[in-house]
Amino acid sequence: MNNSLFVLDAKPVSYVIGEGALTYSEKDLDRYKQAVILVDENVEKHCLPVFREKLPLFNFKGVISIQSGEEKKNLEQTVHIWNELTNMQVDRDSLLVILGGGVVSDIGGFAAATFKRGIKSINFPTTLLGMVDAAIGGKTGIDFNNFKNQVGLFSNPDSVIVDPIFLSTLEDKHWQSGFAEVLKYGLIMDRELWRMMHGKHYREIDDWNKIIIKAARNKMDIIRHDAHEKGIRKNLNFGHTIGHSIESYYLKSGKPVTHGQAIAAGMICEAWISSKMYAFECTQLEEIIEMIDINFDRLDLDESIIPNLIDLMRQDKKVREGKLRFSLLRKLGKAVHDVEVDMKLVRESMQFYINREKCK
Ligand code: NAD
Repeated sequence: MNNSLFVLDAKPVSYVIGEGALTYSEKDLDRYKQAVILVDENVEKHCLPVFREKLPLFNFKGVISIQSGEEKKNLEQTVHIWNELTNMQVDRDSLLVILGGGVVSDIGGFAAATFKRGIKSINFPTTLLGMVDAAIGGKTGIDFNNFKNQVGLFSNPDSVIVDPIFLSTLEDKHWQSGFAEVLKYGLIMDRELWRMMHGKHYREIDDWNKIIIKAARNKMDIIRHDAHEKGIRKNLNFGHTIGHSIESYYLKSGKPVTHGQAIAAGMICEAWISSKMYAFECTQLEEIIEMIDINFDRLDLDESIIPNLIDLMRQDKKVREGKLRFSLLRKLGKAVHDVEVDMKLVRESMQFYINREKCK
C-alpha cells in the first residue's frame, strides 16, 4: 500500500480507497463473466466518461440509467432496473457495477440483492457521502409510502472502490452533505480526523485523499464490530435524531434544506444535550459549534415549530417503547448510544440553536 491508497483484500467485502483506486481495481474486474453498469443521469454525464477512461479494457454489456434524486429511490425505479437486467439476460454470475451517490448505491444494492436471489455487485461511489458512508456497510433499500428506507435488506457488494477523482464535478450542496458526515466521524470516534479539519472551511482542506481514507476506515471499523446496528453502529446516529426531524419538517413544508444543513443543526443541538448530560467542557462545545458555523449557514428555525419537530422525532425508527433514544458525545471523539433524553432538554437544545446562545 502506498500513502495515497488503502487496500484491504478481505471477505465478505474488499476495499480499495484513495487516489488511483479505479486503475488499481482493473485486474479485479476481470474475474466476472459479464458486467452491467448502473448510473443516474448526472453520473452518466460526469462520471461514466472518467470510469471508461480509467478502465479502458473493462468490458460491459450495457448501461442502466435511473433518474436522480431521493424521490426516485422508489419501487418504480427498482422495477426499471429489474426489467433492464432481464432484457440484458443478466445471470447470477454477472456483476452489477454500481456507479453513483448514495441513492444509486441504496437502490442498486437492493436491486442486485433481490434479482435472481442475488447477483454480484461492486460499489463505485461518486459523492463524498457515498465514499465515506453510503457505499460502505451493506445497508440497501428504497423509500416506500413516504417513509425513507422503508423496504430493504442488508447485503454486501463484493468490493467497494473509492476514488476521489469523481468529486471534481460534485455540487457544493452535495459536498456539504458528505462533509457533515465526515465531521461526525471526528466527533464520535476520531479526534485526529477532527484536528485535521478543525478551523477550516471544507474548500480549504488540501488533503482530501487522507481524510476520505480515514473517514471511510472509521465506517468500516464500526460495521466490522456491529454490521446490523445492534450496538456501536448506532453511534453513527449522532446529530441525526434532531437532524432528520428538521430535514423532514422542511421537506413537508415545501422548502427543503440540504441533508448536510439539517445534520449540522442536529449536531449542534445534540452536542449541547451531551454537554448537559456529561462532564463535557464548554470549550469543546464552542469548538464544535465554531467548526459547524464555518461550514454551514444556520437554519432560520422558529421556536413555534419545535413541537412539530418533536412529533417527527417520535415517528423516527430510533424510538423504542415510546422513548426517544439519542447517540451523544461523552467527550469530543467518544460517543455513547441508546441514551434516553428528557423532552425538556431536547426542547432547550433547539432554543439554544435558535437563539445562538453561548455555552454556560
Ligand atoms: P445522491 O446519490 O442523490 O447524489 C447527489 C446528487 O449528485 C445526485 O443528483 C447525483 O446525480 C449527483 N452526483 C453524484 N455523483 C456526482 C458527481 N461525481 N458529479 C456530479 N454530480 C454527481 O445523494 P448522496 O448524498 O450521495 O446520498 C444520499 C442517499 O444516501 C440517501 O438516499 C440516503 O438515505 C443514503 N444513505 C445511505 C446510507 C447507507 O448506509 N446505505 C448511509 C447514508 C446515506
